[in-house]
Amino acid sequence: MSIHPAAKRHLLRKLLVFVVLVVIVAALVWWRDDQSAKKPQIITSTPSKSVSTTPASFDKSQHSINDPASIWVVVDKGRILPSNYTPVNLVVPKVALSEGSASENMHLRSEAAGAVEKLVAAAANDSQKLILVSGYRSFVTQQAVYSGYVSSQGQAYADATSARAGHSEHQSGLAADLGAQSGQCQLEACFGDMTEGKWLATNAHKYGFIIRYQKDKANLTGYAYEPWHIRFVGVDLAAELNKTAQTMEQFFGLTNYADYPTQTYQLKSGV
Ligand SMILES: [Zn+2]
Repeated sequence: MSIHPAAKRHLLRKLLVFVVLVVIVAALVWWRDDQSAKKPQIITSTPSKSVSTTPASFDKSQHSINDPASIWVVVDKGRILPSNYTPVNLVVPKVALSEGSASENMHLRSEAAGAVEKLVAAAANDSQKLILVSGYRSFVTQQAVYSGYVSSQGQAYADATSARAGHSEHQSGLAADLGAQSGQCQLEACFGDMTEGKWLATNAHKYGFIIRYQKDKANLTGYAYEPWHIRFVGVDLAAELNKTAQTMEQFFGLTNYADYPTQTYQLKSGV
């Protein structure tokens, strides 16, 4: 079968037009895809609940743990406060006091004082009457307290119950010993079994305090259980330590000193 040359040319023109059209359509499709890829992705669905409620990981570098004036300063048997360190903002909290307000011992750093006022007021609302037994203690006073224990009970007892000068959190002005207003079990482990002690263990973290020397953690803290000794660290860290049930040393990955090491770390300002 033969095709007339005119018909052949007509057919070829039709084919050419078809090919050109296909190329144009293909180019348009490619251009559209390319444009949509460049557009920012708009996600209209709401994020899943697990994503929106997962808290950001806790920032452990918010405050220094080495600066004596930091609310996170870690003082223990291996980490010593300078002998001349005195907090600048010591005040007497407006709570029931075990001594006169002129006493050094009835002072706390203002941050801790404000928090202890809220804590004691909240305890009173729950019918638990707490008093401040001991607060700030200077290096010199701590030296006298420790030597007093050594001469009366021996060094082993002194080291288990009192801190050597520079090693006491009380020098930071951020630690407080609380007691029941009845005076029962004052500075004794049985305070932890009283309703006041139980209230303190359950609620201290809400006001930025931790029970620093927990039961069965003497090998980590170097101190026997002290249910009366609370340490101000701020609400965020207190909540985190309460949740993770860790000591400050565990949380910050520091050495646990069950005893005094031969080499101690000197805490200093600006680090
Ligand atoms: Zn104490």
